[in-house]
Amino acid sequence: KPITTDIEELTREVKKFATSKKLEIEMLKVREQYRREFLGNVSHELKTPLFTVQGYLSTLLDGAMDDKTIRKKYLKRAEKGVERLIYIVEDLDMITKLEVGDLNLDFSEFDIVDLIQNVFDLLEMKADKKKISLAFDNYHIQPIFVYGDKDKIQQVLENLIVNSIKYGRESGLTEVSVINLTKKKVLIRISDNGEGIESQNIPRLFERFFRVDKSGARSEGGSGLGLAIVKHIIEAHKEKIYVESEFGIGSEFSFTLKKAQANNLKNIL
Ligand code: ADP
Repeated sequence: KPITTDIEELTREVKKFATSKKLEIEMLKVREQYRREFLGNVSHELKTPLFTVQGYLSTLLDGAMDDKTIRKKYLKRAEKGVERLIYIVEDLDMITKLEVGDLNLDFSEFDIVDLIQNVFDLLEMKADKKKISLAFDNYHIQPIFVYGDKDKIQQVLENLIVNSIKYGRESGLTEVSVINLTKKKVLIRISDNGEGIESQNIPRLFERFFRVDKSGARSEGGSGLGLAIVKHIIEAHKEKIYVESEFGIGSEFSFTLKKAQANNLKNIL
């Protein structure tokens, strides 16, 4: 654009430039604040397991190592701490990719019922420890083909079912339903009869690092990122996620998925 000699136009241009610069500076400030908060949260989350590992290792070096049973017990606990660190770092990696939109979805058609069964098998031991049963609400459930990123949807199912175990009651029940919503959509619902969530905390559940303090979540040792990851994955699929919960009664998380063409084929055959 040629440089103008019209003083009024020049003033307008300078003003416009100044406002856009101001906006840019404001945006940078917001991003900086966000970055600082994120880093603060990350180091806070990492500190607890790091101190745990350090604590057990120091105690071992201070002499606890001489007792064979204590040695094994403390090494196991240190190992658990390291495992937890790995989970946190993996979750951080995932959330960072999701938040900068750097995650390519790999779409395919797959049987969601089969995937849920796989996740049940994967988490069976964890559920057994609390005597929690993992089940479909309809025993005679048929294969239902959906369209999405299979690995990411598996991660969604894992996070939601792990939560239903972590915050579920001893000898409780986690039930999964696959509901035919419309011609094009299914709804996957994961419900538990666990501790439930107080209504004032529900709007914040999907925030990164948010945890209900009283829920024993700390001792259960997640990263506080599970639901944030779930929400990002579902939104990347342009689908919806819902939560309903009653404190002391239980919780229900559900999300929609697109049905695959394969269903139509199945109906024709
Ligand atoms: P965390 O790693 O703490 O489990 P999430 O993002 O998965 O992090 O969950 C955030 C919080 O939401 C949890 O700390 C817990 O307080 C609450 N929450 C999640 N799922 C359930 C559930 N099924 N029942 C009760 N509370 C839940």
